[in-house]
Amino acid sequence: MQPILSLENIFFSYHNLKGETPALSNITFDIAEGEFLAIVGPSGCGKSTLLSIIAGLLKPEGGTITFNTSSSIGYMLQHDHLFEWRTIYQNAILGLELNKNMTKENTDYVLQLLNDYGLYAFKDKKPSELSGGMRQRAALIRTMAIKPDLLLLDEPFSALDFQTRMMVSADIGNIIRSTGKTAILITHDLSEAITLADRVLVLSGRPSSVKCELPIHFCIDRTSPLAIRNTTEYQTYFNLLWKELSDDFSEK
Ligand code: ADP
Ligand code: MG
Repeated sequence: MQPILSLENIFFSYHNLKGETPALSNITFDIAEGEFLAIVGPSGCGKSTLLSIIAGLLKPEGGTITFNTSSSIGYMLQHDHLFEWRTIYQNAILGLELNKNMTKENTDYVLQLLNDYGLYAFKDKKPSELSGGMRQRAALIRTMAIKPDLLLLDEPFSALDFQTRMMVSADIGNIIRSTGKTAILITHDLSEAITLADRVLVLSGRPSSVKCELPIHFCIDRTSPLAIRNTTEYQTYFNLLWKELSDDFSEK
């Protein structure tokens, strides 16, 4: 299948008064349509920088990015960035408003998503009246409302406590899978990467390059994060990834 997105030999450095900080070095990978890709790597290695480059917010210094699609992109960040002065519904339609795309079809779709993700009864509430997990779902609805071809998720669950995180990440993983969306998830949580992704890319320390990639397959379906964590495949993947990441620490 033709990839929806290809990155070839991407280089990027930050420049400021103190000098140069090389962040990405020779990054090459593809993502296929409908694929769920997780990217893990040590803190500060350049993961968010990489997503900003894919989103077109930063320009690479070297290399090429090719989109084989009309490529509307949905971006979801660590903090939900819901606006407290807007209701959940008003937050959810923000992207449509900004893109001047408030058709009946699109607002109906938002109402449908609110219903599907169990937030319909909360649509007129303010963000502070919702739990962390519900807020994160509301942020996902806002991201999905513009019907993106590609979802970019930058550690979207890291502000949640452990139990909520496990439930919400499984929840959101199922939603993304069932809609067949192409997604790139940045995470420093190996369990999250293994339970959610079709493939995991491991980045090296800064300036980061792709250290290895690991396709993930399970014999059981992915709806239960706990069942997945109890499989022997899960343990094998975890050990492999752990080793890749700790090699990088010991090299320093
Ligand atoms: P990660 O998301 O993997 O934690 P980032 O992509 O945020 O890492 O950052 C990669 C490196 O680039 C870090 O060392 C960080 O300090 C540096 N960096 C990030 N943003 C800037 C910036 N605007 N100016 C200078 N350096 C930056
Ligand atoms: Mg980051």
